[in-house]
Amino acid sequence: MTARAWHDWTDAPSDARYAVLGDPVEHSWSPRMHNAAFEALELPDRYVALRVPSGQVADALKELSQKGYRGVNVTVPLKQEAFLATHPEKGMVTQIGAVNAVRLPGLSSTNTDGIGLFRALIERHLLPGAKVLLLGAGGSARAAAFTLARYGFDLTLWNRTAAKARDLAEEVGVHWTTQPETEGYAAVLNATAATLSGDPLPVKWGGRGLAMDFMYGDHSNPFLDSALAAGWSAVDGREMLLWQGVTSFLWLTGLEPPVGVMREAVCG
Ligand code: NDP
Repeated sequence: MTARAWHDWTDAPSDARYAVLGDPVEHSWSPRMHNAAFEALELPDRYVALRVPSGQVADALKELSQKGYRGVNVTVPLKQEAFLATHPEKGMVTQIGAVNAVRLPGLSSTNTDGIGLFRALIERHLLPGAKVLLLGAGGSARAAAFTLARYGFDLTLWNRTAAKARDLAEEVGVHWTTQPETEGYAAVLNATAATLSGDPLPVKWGGRGLAMDFMYGDHSNPFLDSALAAGWSAVDGREMLLWQGVTSFLWLTGLEPPVGVMREAVCG
């Protein structure tokens, strides 16, 4: 019998120690990545996917602590709620206003999305100083913008609702534009949820570089398809997920993450 892919938080397995919380959560590849790591380290810890509806994060964290869980990752749409329900690290995490990793039972929390993206870009030879166009101004765009600016990337923001791009750019201290034209950029990063709804983005492709979508999975991706058609390299969000997960694993468990097996679990 195959184990169920996810549980409601009220029905969280009492033999698991780590989890990803989201709603929906069944699409998350975090369990396969973290379970591969625990297996490789020959540890009995188990990592599960738990559905937590909005408004129930604080109750879920309390219940999971009582059940002996030691840490969780948090995904869409709960990152801002988790920020408010926990004790976020000071500095950049406070500026981002969203967390994706929480230690239990103490409730200290951090955000590893930005550093995950940074490491994925470095691995693709995109180094600080590179000119990057970031699409979106939601939670993951905030994490990306603060982190990439901190590490010295030359960042420009675009968002469907232009005022949000302007406000975030002013907050971070980077450029913003109403025209997503890619000529002259080394990378274009899609942190919008447009891929989720299958909507195309009004990007005018020119020049050459790396297009990265934060979303991962086997579904069609109009953003990456249009990048490929324009001669750009295209990657989805699984490398960002990998490095976000590696950073989370270290932060939540204190153990050296087995990067090779975690990469195999999400990147194949
Ligand atoms: P949010 O809901 O916080 O932000 C949504 C953003 O998408 C806003 O900028 C919104 O623009 C924009 N948007 C939504 N629909 C459209 C559309 N049809 N056309 C153009 N823009 C649109 O989402 P998150 O930032 O949390 O997540 C964004 C994506 O990143 C998700 O798909 C998520 O799965 C992925 N992600 C992947 C990670 C990884 O490790 N690979 C980590 C974190 C996120 P507006 O302001 O105009 O509404």
